[in-house]
Amino acid sequence: MSDDIPFDKSFDLEPDRVREIAPGVRAIAADNPSPFTFKGTVSYIVGRGQVAIIDPGPDDATHIAALLDAVRGETVTHIFVTHTHRDHSPAVPKVKAATGAAVFAQGPHRLSRPLHTGDVRRLDASADMEFRPDIALADGEVVSGRGWTLEAVATPGHTANHMAFAFKEADLLFAGDHVMAWSTTIVAPPDGAMSDYMASLQKLAARGEPTYLSGHGAPVREAPRYVQFLIRHRRGREASILHRLGKGAADIPTIVKAVYIGLDPRLIGAAGLSVLAHLEELVARGAVVTDGTPSIAGTYRLA
Ligand SMILES: [Zn+2]
Repeated sequence: MSDDIPFDKSFDLEPDRVREIAPGVRAIAADNPSPFTFKGTVSYIVGRGQVAIIDPGPDDATHIAALLDAVRGETVTHIFVTHTHRDHSPAVPKVKAATGAAVFAQGPHRLSRPLHTGDVRRLDASADMEFRPDIALADGEVVSGRGWTLEAVATPGHTANHMAFAFKEADLLFAGDHVMAWSTTIVAPPDGAMSDYMASLQKLAARGEPTYLSGHGAPVREAPRYVQFLIRHRRGREASILHRLGKGAADIPTIVKAVYIGLDPRLIGAAGLSVLAHLEELVARGAVVTDGTPSIAGTYRLA
């Protein structure tokens, strides 16, 4: 699956050991590996002396201690959150309590669209419903501290409140889970939406940052080119779904089986939601029909 994308599955951060990975950027990975988080969530420290932390990570005592240890003797003035999944934001209250930093993000967790009858929110447990930023950021808003300037880049799709942050001084982008070197991201309705995700990829494709630092995995090099691969990949997946429906009406498990060859069985549920995300967009465009609103249990056919 996805052999059309030049993935980089390298990862050389040891869990909870801080390392400078770009000028003015230190990275520290939590020890929470899984099929969804790869080797673990990567938290970032921006600047020196007076610093910002991006994505404090899961509520994991070892990770929080390592993160606070890494900034010992420095002042944490800002905490930024890319999105409200449980592997990114639940460490915020403890890190905020220990540092007094203000918390910046797009907003609390919210759905990309209203709940439909029959929606199974199977990724519900992955959302951090408690999170509230001190300061809600709008797209394009610029926040600066000593020696660093971050521009908020709204990138909905993986979640409705997903935000990337452009680090002006180093010409790189903190991409959260929107763009990652090791894998495509999960776009699972109703938390995520395919039309938003594709628009967010187009938005990044028009930007110049050559390197992205992501929530999981190694840095993304030649990022604008990589984003084009991601766009082509989703268009290809959409074509595969339409091709399968060209052979007759099908439900989502049947489409997953036809489209995802060699899929890790642990990811079947996520793949079904990803197909639902494509189908929602295809129904909205009038290319595909289903009975009622698109749902995970529905049957789909070409219009
Ligand atoms: Zn994540």
